[in-house]
Amino acid sequence: MSFSSRIKEELGRRLGPRHCRIAEIAALMELCGRVDRDASGRISITLNTENVAVARKCFTLFKKTFNIVADIRTSRNTYLKKAHNCRITIQGDADARKVLGAVKVEFPDGGAMLKAQGPGMANTVDDEVATGVGGTLKAQGTGMANTVGDEVETGVGGTLKAPFIPASVTARACCKRAFLRGAFLAVGSMSDPEKFYHLEFACPTQESALQLQGIISGFGPDAKIVPRKKSFVVYLKEGNQIVELLNVMDAGLGLMAFENTRIMKDMRNTINRQVNCETANINKTVSTGLRQADEIRLIMNNIGLASLPPSLREIAQLRLQNPDMALKELGESLDPPVGKSGVNHRLRKLSQIALELQGGGQEIVSRT
Ligand SMILES: [Zn+2]
Repeated sequence: MSFSSRIKEELGRRLGPRHCRIAEIAALMELCGRVDRDASGRISITLNTENVAVARKCFTLFKKTFNIVADIRTSRNTYLKKAHNCRITIQGDADARKVLGAVKVEFPDGGAMLKAQGPGMANTVDDEVATGVGGTLKAQGTGMANTVGDEVETGVGGTLKAPFIPASVTARACCKRAFLRGAFLAVGSMSDPEKFYHLEFACPTQESALQLQGIISGFGPDAKIVPRKKSFVVYLKEGNQIVELLNVMDAGLGLMAFENTRIMKDMRNTINRQVNCETANINKTVSTGLRQADEIRLIMNNIGLASLPPSLREIAQLRLQNPDMALKELGESLDPPVGKSGVNHRLRKLSQIALELQGGGQEIVSRT
């Protein structure tokens, strides 16, 4: 199961008090739903989702909040093969009006509506065709087309476009959190934190994206908006801000899973850095030791180690046998032991002698 689906499963199980449930319904309606009025003035509410857990949540919300039994239809998405499209509908005019009343939405008069919503309606239908909610469209397509036709001719019907939810629905902080839960269920997704950090809401309109951004920023996270194809994407890219938002949405399990992955990733990075650093140090020690062993061989071949004072001869033999040994260890191997700086001093003297033997030691000779 994808990380998004896990979060949606979890959010699907959260059920707050009535005021919060209404805010959550408002978000779902605004971001993945529509309100339609047919030619005879009857209102209906439709929500679309590809996630079965989200469909189940919508059903539960309508049942527990309004005692309305919504109709759910599932059809296979003909374009994406594996994905399902779930359509949740409230067909009864009285039921639909009860929901609209609770989320404080008034459907304007037909005449005014048509002017504002005429093109919007056409877009809605186009969207459905383009995004391949094909199965459902085939079943209901004719009805839909008639609805549009009727509206254009009679000027009574229409579709409400987002954002139509007034701010008063999310006046309380608890209801704002519920609204964000609903928004994530409707249009949210997030990447697997193992790959990278990204959480987004693909909003249908710029207005709804701005509204969502405002609510999110009220809790701290600084969400950005970017237009993408037919949507306006509100997104977060920083691990800390994603954690904050998951916390605000009350997705505790998702938050823990996210944090665990983040900690593991950080730990892996730290260990890698340490290993790289140690490897670099070891390489340096070894290459220095190899150079010193070369120098000692040069002395041995030219003047012989026997010509060196005992303290130098001793360290020369030891270094020759252990070119990869650290200075500290070299010092401890001497009898009596010598400190790191003492070892360093003796090795430097050997280097000077080697340099003199190579003929480049003029300066050093004059100094000693
Ligand atoms: Zn509330």
